[in-house]
Amino acid sequence: MEKKKYCPVCKKCSGCQLSNMDYERQLKFKQNEVRIRFNRLCKVQKILGAKSPLNYRNKAQFVFKKIKGKVQSGIYQSADKTVVITDSCALHTKEQNAVARTLCDLFLKFRITPYDLHKGTGLVKNVIVRQSFHTGELMVVIVCDYNGIFPKEKDFAKALREKHKNITSIILTRHKGRTLNAGENPKVIFGNAHITDRICNLDFVISYNSFFQINPMQTEVLYSKAVELANLTEADVVLDAYSGTGTIGMICSPHCKEVYSVELNPNAVKDARENKRINSIENVNLVCADSEDYIKTLREENAVINVALLDPPRAGCSRSFLNSLCRLAPQRIVYVSCNMDTQVRDVRFLIKNGYKLDVVQGVDMFPFTKHTECIVLLTKLCN
Ligand code: SAH
Repeated sequence: MEKKKYCPVCKKCSGCQLSNMDYERQLKFKQNEVRIRFNRLCKVQKILGAKSPLNYRNKAQFVFKKIKGKVQSGIYQSADKTVVITDSCALHTKEQNAVARTLCDLFLKFRITPYDLHKGTGLVKNVIVRQSFHTGELMVVIVCDYNGIFPKEKDFAKALREKHKNITSIILTRHKGRTLNAGENPKVIFGNAHITDRICNLDFVISYNSFFQINPMQTEVLYSKAVELANLTEADVVLDAYSGTGTIGMICSPHCKEVYSVELNPNAVKDARENKRINSIENVNLVCADSEDYIKTLREENAVINVALLDPPRAGCSRSFLNSLCRLAPQRIVYVSCNMDTQVRDVRFLIKNGYKLDVVQGVDMFPFTKHTECIVLLTKLCN
């Protein structure tokens, strides 16, 4: 792939760190990233690459700037706090980019000023456009400054919808600080409060601020692999730790007896409850707690856990969590991570404490970026 054809601003924008490599080379680079960390411990499987490495993001964040009387959209560069102007990011979907272009026109027409992060003036801080790849539905979240008043919101929503019929949700939020996020105090000015996507034959709701894997095609690859490695039987009881909105646990649920999903963020657990309801799942127990505390409770109750699925944040698992996990002694541990440095640290600990590393599998969830997701399978050695 020619650099220029794929994106005219890839050199300026910090979003794609591997923009100078074609996709085959990116996969080789990532395979090597996995190998560097794991090849002394186990044979490394061939990385699972993406069938379509572009236009994969189900969530796009735009910032806006007024330049020479026109409003233009761009991508915020957190490192140097600047904006790279582009209306055609190749990682976003075409529809997301088209919505951003319409927003530029409408902001001008409705005299809505983009927020200037340096000066602290203006109304719209950023806009998040989320898309369901299954239904095509779009959600537009317009994040406004805390004190600003959004003019003629119903007319604005109507004008936006007229151009993009698959927008099913338009939400205004507010945010105080000079940082970019999804904002607070959501007000739905058109449609529903959430959109729904489908992964591995289950439906998942996505609210304006939910955590949801950003590449739905590769999420299906990742979760299917994790479930395959867990090699579940009808008798298995599964612990799904760091469960977010309950995705992995629910995908496991038809293949096992029971799942205990534990997640710290109450909003994610709320979405998980809704996901459980819409999929009519009965054998998943959703627990809102710190995994570290919860696993201690399981241990004290002498709970029998056959399989543990772990998907922690970048910091990995705490030593205390891993100690309790070893005492709980599941036969299989499937550990999914977006940070192989902490993952390999935790894997080494588990190897020292009675486990064998059987499978190491990279998955490319984020083509054109330097990030690599990795799944490992550990099995308990007989005492
Ligand atoms: N498995 C989910 C989410 C993974 S992201 C998915 O694939 O969609 C990691 C999750 O761990 C986040 O939802 C975060 O809120 C949660 N988390 C972070 N620290 C935690 C802790 N100490 N105990 C429980 N959950 C935690």
